[in-house]
Amino acid sequence: MIEAAQRRDNVLAGIAAAAEAARRDPRDVALIAVSKGRDAAAIAPLLVAGQSDFGENRVREAQDKWPPLLARYPDARLHFIGRLQSNKALDAVKMFDVIHSVDRRSLIEALAEAARRAGRSPTVYVQVNIGDEEQKGGCSLAEVGELIALVRESGLPLGGLMAIPPLDLEPAPFFALLAKIAAREGISGLSMGMSGDYRQAVMFGATAVRIGSAFFEPE
Ligand SMILES: *Cc1c(COP(=O)(O)O)cnc(C)c1O
Repeated sequence: MIEAAQRRDNVLAGIAAAAEAARRDPRDVALIAVSKGRDAAAIAPLLVAGQSDFGENRVREAQDKWPPLLARYPDARLHFIGRLQSNKALDAVKMFDVIHSVDRRSLIEALAEAARRAGRSPTVYVQVNIGDEEQKGGCSLAEVGELIALVRESGLPLGGLMAIPPLDLEPAPFFALLAKIAAREGISGLSMGMSGDYRQAVMFGATAVRIGSAFFEPE
């Protein structure tokens, strides 16, 4: 079986190759290891290998799993990538450095209030429902400008835009569309690309890729 550190090197090589093809600096692409559903024993070897950014999609799971790991690796940074209920905003703000799934006015307000109470502000990404899918998280294309303005007013640091293209379609046009919206809004941060499509995402300007299975599942 391939070791976690080796799989990480493979992903880093894939990012470097895609960045080179797009004449970008690979250091401008943050690699987030999506550790949702993985236990501490699976995560620890990645921390040892130097991986610092991790994605989780449940507040409760992260609260249960991460404190002992953070005690040993205090430089690890946690990214929230799942659906966030407003009543979990304070817990999320205490635990996470970056929240990628901000998709509505009420959540921005709850996070801003939570940041005041906690005395720490996560960086937030506005998630866009880029394929206009019924069940998918993310705001509509029409709401993007308004939500970005709200984040800017709220004082929460704006990381950029995040999206997950429809599963069954070629992702490239959706990455291109997200990049275009970001450019229109004067934003450079783009959280896009997963195990199956991160190379294309990097070609289209991703500044953060969220990689789960390529890190944790034997090939
Ligand atoms: C699970 C998840 C990922 C990682 O997906 P893989 O295909 O396993 O790389 C990335 N982003 C989000 C929002 C996820 O929920």
